[in-house]
Order: sequence, then structure tokens, then C-alpha cells
Amino acid sequence: MIIVMREPIKQEDIDAVVEKLHSVGAEAHISRGQYKTIIGVIGDRETVMQIPFEAYAAVEAVVPIMKPFKMVSREFSPEPMTIRVGNTVIGPSTFTVIAGPCSVESEEQILEAARLAKMAGATIFRGGAYKPRSSPYAFQGLGEEGLKILAAAREQTGLPVVTEVLDPRDIDVVAEYADILQVGTRNMQNFLLLKELGRIRKPVFLKRGMSATIEEWLMAAEYVAKEGNHEIILCERGIRTFETATRNTLDISAVPVLKALSHLPVMIDPSHATGRRDLVEPLTRAGLAVGADGVMIEVHPNPSQALCDGPQSLNLQEFAALMKDLKTICPAFGREL
Ligand code: PEP
Ligand code: MN
Repeated sequence: MIIVMREPIKQEDIDAVVEKLHSVGAEAHISRGQYKTIIGVIGDRETVMQIPFEAYAAVEAVVPIMKPFKMVSREFSPEPMTIRVGNTVIGPSTFTVIAGPCSVESEEQILEAARLAKMAGATIFRGGAYKPRSSPYAFQGLGEEGLKILAAAREQTGLPVVTEVLDPRDIDVVAEYADILQVGTRNMQNFLLLKELGRIRKPVFLKRGMSATIEEWLMAAEYVAKEGNHEIILCERGIRTFETATRNTLDISAVPVLKALSHLPVMIDPSHATGRRDLVEPLTRAGLAVGADGVMIEVHPNPSQALCDGPQSLNLQEFAALMKDLKTICPAFGREL
């Protein structure tokens, strides 16, 4: 943060600002130019921002320049992070494919989907047991029963599973069955949920809020990291724009922007981003090209019968074709599939 002082300036005004900064443990670096006196502040942003410097008569402007996120920033850890889940590695040398249906509908559907996802080459399986539906009358998921079915799919295929947790009260039960806990777009700023997820020792798959800026998203990740859980995977899943051709707009530029700001792995979800199965493959390629560490794709044994998100789900043949395509192009980007 920079504090620009009003001219003409008196030494006692500078002293008052410096003293206040020192009282909260911050450092002040004074620079007296020909026309302006500027005080550079180093210290905890949250604490410093609490001080109402704008109300000081001698202060002309307060300019925040510090990044509000620390533990998830590149400065904190310059090397990109690698996260291991079972036999799967998420990080800079691999392109991780997470596949599976939107929701767990039955044991038969899940076991079939997991078996074929594995055969096609997916390395993590997904499926929602707790579904965040816009309508309270829509299918809400099978809950713990769904978690048990996911665990059975892992048992049969060896694929780790990721599933969404909606409510802090469900964290323990979800963590008992799942390998990675997902925070959906609608909960990206559920700070209570984020803090509680910071206390577990399983990776968190943090989707971008559909109206969240990249900075807000990284602050959400910071909530998790601050409590001690540093294994966070960011997933760009489309944001709301004026465009109606797709369900949301995949912000592909978020991937390299995040890579510059943070060491956390970044994935994309072209299924929820577009709502259209025909766009899943081209956007997966785009994600790979801009440096994403992987992709989350909705795959259903029978999309026309899906209880949720059928129009964006690939059937298993379509998914196998996409995997074949990725096998050819991943090496060009220095990534193992
Ligand atoms: C999901 O992955 O099942 C989901 C609901 O995604 P999002 O939170 O991105 O809408
Ligand atoms: Mn879905």
C-alpha cells in the first residue's frame, strides 16, 4: 500500500502516519519527492487496511498495491505445485483428465461410467452426491448413499474420486469417502466452508465463482491455505457474460493469468463452461495449449437419460475419441496424459 500525502506537508503529519503504522506492526518507507511525499507501507494488508487513512486531513490518497493473497502466490512458492492423489499426479508435467457424470444416479450407472472412463484413460473419476441445483425441486443427489457408490467405483477401478461438498457439516463424511473435495461455483465464497476445508488433509478442487474475479478466487483459495491445507486445485468453469451461445463463457485467459500469480495447479471444465458437448473437445485442446494442468469433463453412459447436465455430457465413445486425440497432442506440450 502507498500513502500519498497532501501538500504542503508538515513533518508532524508524516510522523502521525508513521506512528500509526508502527503501532500495528507495519513498516513505513518515506520518499520525499520534489512535489509529493509518499509513504510506502509493508505489513499485513488486512490490518493496515483497517486504518482509515483517507480520513486523515494530511492524506491525499491511499493506493493498495500489495497482493491480498500470500500463501497461494508465486512469491510464497515459486515452483509450480504438484499434488499426488493415489497413483495420479496433478502438476506441470502431466495433463490430468477427470471424467464422470454430473451426478451419482445409481450404482449401475456409476460403475459402468467409471469402468469405461478408466479404459479410455481418465485418471480421476467424478460424480456429484450432493448437488447444488438452482431449483429446490430438481434432483438433489443421493447424499451419503452416493458417496458409498463412488467409493465402490474407486474400489473397482483404482481411480481416485472427486465429489462436491456443499455444507460444512458434511465435510467429515465426504472426506471419509472421497479423495478430493470439490467446492462448486456457487460456494466459492462460502468462507465458512473454505475455512473448514482448510483443516482437512485432502486436496480441495476449487471452482471459480461464476461472477468472481481472479483475485477473489485466489482469496478464496487463501482461506483454505491459511488454515493449513495447501493442496488446492483451481478450476476455471466459465463465468457469466452477456453471451448466450454458451451456458457460461470459458475464461481461457484465466489459466495463464493464474499461472503467473500462483503456484497452484489450474484446470478447466469445458462442460459446465459451455453447456454444450460439441465444444468440450475444442476447449480441452485450448486448455492444454494455454498451460492448464488438466480438465474436468462430464461423461455419462447415456446422456439423454441423465438426471442432470445431459446436453453437455459426452457419451463414452465421444470421450474415448477425445482421449485418443489428447494422446497425440499432449507430448507436443511436454505433458504426459
Ligand atoms: C459440478 O461440477 O458438478 C458442478 C455443479 O459444477 P459448477 O459448480 O462449476 O457448476
Ligand atoms: Mn454438472
